[in-house]
Amino acid sequence: MSPPALTVNDLSVDYGPVRALREVSLRVPEGGFAAVLGGNGAGKTTLLRAVSGVLPFHGGTVRAGRIAAAGTSLRGRRPDRIVGQGVVQVPEGREIFARMTVGENLRAGALGARDRRAVAAARDRVLRLFPVLAERERQRAGLLSGGEQQMLAIGRALMAGPRLLLLDEPSLGLAPIMIDRIAATIRAINGEGIAVLLIEQNAALALELASHAYVLEVGAVALEGPAPELASSPEVRDRYLGVS
Ligand code: ATP
Repeated sequence: MSPPALTVNDLSVDYGPVRALREVSLRVPEGGFAAVLGGNGAGKTTLLRAVSGVLPFHGGTVRAGRIAAAGTSLRGRRPDRIVGQGVVQVPEGREIFARMTVGENLRAGALGARDRRAVAAARDRVLRLFPVLAERERQRAGLLSGGEQQMLAIGRALMAGPRLLLLDEPSLGLAPIMIDRIAATIRAINGEGIAVLLIEQNAALALELASHAYVLEVGAVALEGPAPELASSPEVRDRYLGVS
């Protein structure tokens, strides 16, 4: 059996004197789909920062624990090395390059790649997944709508050829119809065999897409299980789905 796309074991993270994550463990199987739910400040973004290696740029430190992708340790590695291991983050707030064109943004996602044919194939795949990006390839990215910018951010991440995609709140601030489109795309990406770790405050969406989910509360995993099981748990329904 192939090793999981991601394993996090007993991960603890501090921002100065503040402990943001306590002994968090989770797993995303090869090609699997896991979601992390939790309210504001629960530690979801911190978890992704630790995995993608950008935590030090936000003043955070991994104090303890193990992070591994497909059997290779990621802890302490530089973000570009982590991308090189096939682990690519789509940051919260998208962080596209507004003054560059859509096409330039996509190419920026493949900066580390040497195989030009693979880059061209990745670009074709992204433009097939997001036809709107093909139509607007020469336009400045800052002119795209919020939903289109989210598509561009996902497309840029796909250009790096990920084995595991880390998605931070892709539904944030989007209209329902756009959320449906992004959700369908995320499902299609996972259908192509790319593992996904999805961080979402929109618990209904996350539980619909993922097969396994973790609930973070004040930096620790409070609940975990198959998504359908969590979706029917009274605690999750009451606290995260707004139904009881
Ligand atoms: P949100 O959905 O609001 O982004 P979150 O679940 O992603 O919440 P985090 O952003 O990971 O939560 O925050 C976890 C805890 O760490 C919070 O108490 C937050 O105030 C703190 N924190 C986050 N980033 C920093 C930082 N750069 N410096 C200091 N503390 C931080």
